Order: sequence, then structure tokens, then C-alpha cells
Amino acid sequence: MAFEITNEMLVGSLMPAIVYWVYGGLYTILGYSCNNYRLHPKEDEDEKNFASKKTVIKGVLGQQFRQFIATNLLYMITRGNDAGASSGQSTSFFVIARQFIVAMFVFDTYQYFVHRYLHQNKFLYKHLHSKHHRLVVSYPFGAIYSHPIEGLLFDIIGGTMAIYISGMSPLTSAFFSSFCNMKSVDDHCGLMLPWNPFHIFFTNNTAYHDLHHQLYGGKYNFSQPFFSIWDKILGTYMPYSLEKREEGGFKLRPLKEFKN
Ligand SMILES: [Zn+2]
Ligand SMILES: [Zn+2]
Repeated sequence: MAFEITNEMLVGSLMPAIVYWVYGGLYTILGYSCNNYRLHPKEDEDEKNFASKKTVIKGVLGQQFRQFIATNLLYMITRGNDAGASSGQSTSFFVIARQFIVAMFVFDTYQYFVHRYLHQNKFLYKHLHSKHHRLVVSYPFGAIYSHPIEGLLFDIIGGTMAIYISGMSPLTSAFFSSFCNMKSVDDHCGLMLPWNPFHIFFTNNTAYHDLHHQLYGGKYNFSQPFFSIWDKILGTYMPYSLEKREEGGFKLRPLKEFKN
């Protein structure tokens, strides 16, 4: 198999990373001017978190580099192999919509159970998942900050499964991965802006995931990145209310008693 990077491979492997920084950059700018919609005061990002922004940026760039390699390897392996994503299939709107829905369900289901297990198993939590939870006050570009093995487990394996099972073409998968990155940035942006389309379509939103990042929230709201179905079915859903903070912004309040 000759090693050749095509334009299709470059678009597919670079687009999700570019979308991540552009969308995350936009939210970072909004974060300075939209104090009334913040879930935490801006200064808490540095005071309450257990990782510096420099460490987070380095960690995210490392994860994106690994995703770049994995995506290109996947393209090389599947090229000429019709068992996986095929580029010759019909790409009508309905086909792509169906593929997105299947991929979202597969990705959500996989992530829920892996995520929950990473919290339940003390060894795995301590050595892997606690890294993502160093951000108690999450911010846009911290969305995929995690241990490299967790990044492999969650995003690379989970994303590959979703793309394979749904039968997406490489180009559709590039859009799907970019969409997942946007949703993940949105969930970690720390802003409950009105008319956010993600908040209209998904109950699994910024406040929902922010609750999971709180020191009290580790046994609830494991669902990510799209729907909250598994949390509701399996009793790990924590409803919340948003109250106005005196100094501006919202205060997130859980609405159920916590299990020990
Ligand atoms: Zn978690
Ligand atoms: Zn998170």
C-alpha cells in the first residue's frame, strides 16, 4: 500500500481541528462580552481549575495530532475496501441525514457506557478520566482536553465505529467529526446564550455537561455529546435549574438529592 495523502484525506483530517479552534475562538471572544450568560465568573477558569490554559492547549494539540494520524491511517486502510465507508454511494440529503442520526446514536451509546465506566472504576478514573475533570470550570478550547488513552477510547474508536456503522463517505465523515467537535466545544463553552440552536435541539447542552464537571456531579449526566436518553433510562439524569447570579450570569443548581 503506497503512502499518499490526497486532498480528500487532508480535508477529512484537518477540517474537524480547524472547526474546533474557529468555533472555540468565537466562544472565547463572546465569553469576554457576555457576562450575563456565563455559568461561572471568568476568573474562576484560572482559580478553580487544576490545569493551566497552556497545559490544556498543549494537550488538545497533541490529541488533534493523534486524530490526524488515525484519520489518515483509516483512509488508507479503507481505500479500495468497500466493507467500510464507501465514497461511491448516493449522497442525497436523506441518506446523509439518516447516516448522521445513526452515527449520533452509535456515538452516544458508546460514549455513555465508556464514560460511566471511567467514573465507576476508581483506577481508570484516577489515571485517565480525572485529567478531563481538571477543568471544573470548563471553557471552549478545553473541550477535548483528556488523557491520550481516553482520547483514543472515546473519540478515535467511538468516532470510527459511528462512521463505519452509519456507512458515511470520507467527506460526510469529515462533516460529522466537525459537527461533533462543534457540539463538544458548545458543551464546554460555559455560556448559556439565548437562541443557541444546539440548546433548542438537544437537552444535553452546556449546563447539562457543566453539572457533570462540578465536584458534586461525577455520578450524573454521563451522556455525551448529543442526547440524554441513556441517563434518563438508567437513572443517572440530574435535572437542574438556572438562577440569576447577583454579579451577572447564571448559577447552576441540581434539582435532585445526590446519591453517595
Ligand atoms: Zn466525566
Ligand atoms: Zn467534559
